[in-house]
Amino acid sequence: MEKKRLGESEKPLDGGAKPEALSRISSFHAHIYYDPSATRAKAERLRELVAERFLVRNGSWHDVPVGPHPSAMFQISFAKDVFPKIVPWLMLNRLGLTILVHPNTDRPRDDHLNHALWMGRVLELDASRLPQTDAPEPPLEPNTEPRISPE
Ligand code: ZN
Repeated sequence: MEKKRLGESEKPLDGGAKPEALSRISSFHAHIYYDPSATRAKAERLRELVAERFLVRNGSWHDVPVGPHPSAMFQISFAKDVFPKIVPWLMLNRLGLTILVHPNTDRPRDDHLNHALWMGRVLELDASRLPQTDAPEPPLEPNTEPRISPE
């Protein structure tokens, strides 16, 4: 039986390994997964609640799977300083939806497969659609106008 080869970032940190610097992260994504025939209304509600509370970019609706994502979803892009509020808020308010949160560095495969966190069910991403390296994310342009404190 072939032994599963650990990805670069799965190597345990030992004496020789150098920790990744936080400065490698330019922003974060939260992918909100839903079933178009059953839970799209929940996803719409969650998107609205987020827009009222956080300065983020709510991305396009994808009612069919796109890229490495195995299910319908929309994407929320947010700056690093938004993470400490929006991630705990999503933990409390995800309406039962599955959410993937991942950092954006210039290594999409690691970002999605090794450095991500999941809320709810863990879905299998299509690794063949995730390049090892890629150009950095374009600058974040928020499209929400928050007026409610999440506190
Ligand atoms: Zn993403």
